[in-house]
Amino acid sequence: MFITCSTCFAKNRVPEDKIEADGICGKCKNKLLLGAPIELTDANVFKFIQNNDLPVVIDFWADWCGPCKSFAPHFQQAAMAFKHTYRFGKLNTQNAQSSAGMFNIRSIPTLIVFKQGKEVDRVSGALPPQDLTRWLQSHIG
Ligand SMILES: [Zn+2]
Repeated sequence: MFITCSTCFAKNRVPEDKIEADGICGKCKNKLLLGAPIELTDANVFKFIQNNDLPVVIDFWADWCGPCKSFAPHFQQAAMAFKHTYRFGKLNTQNAQSSAGMFNIRSIPTLIVFKQGKEVDRVSGALPPQDLTRWLQSHIG
């Protein structure tokens, strides 16, 4: 499968049964999977969604949004728990207004799950940790 490097965004080919071996990027030699959400921008968000064969989940947030901030640690924990089953990204909708517009983000926080580059589900509002886990699990496989 293809996995996009968490650091340099190079597309790496990883055998499906080696995903839990935590390989390094062929280009920059950093770990491919960090177990933490990756800060995305207008410049790389589409690449990240398209060049990952694991499902991608993105937290659309902003600095001024209180619920986004209290949600952030839960998202961080989920990124560790689902390290080998999802790719986690965060998009600051204030800095990346053009992508936020393209994804039609009307309220934040909003979470969107993408599979093979396509949106499969979204939820708005800060999910409690258990609901977040359940929601993520429902989109695996
Ligand atoms: Zn890299």
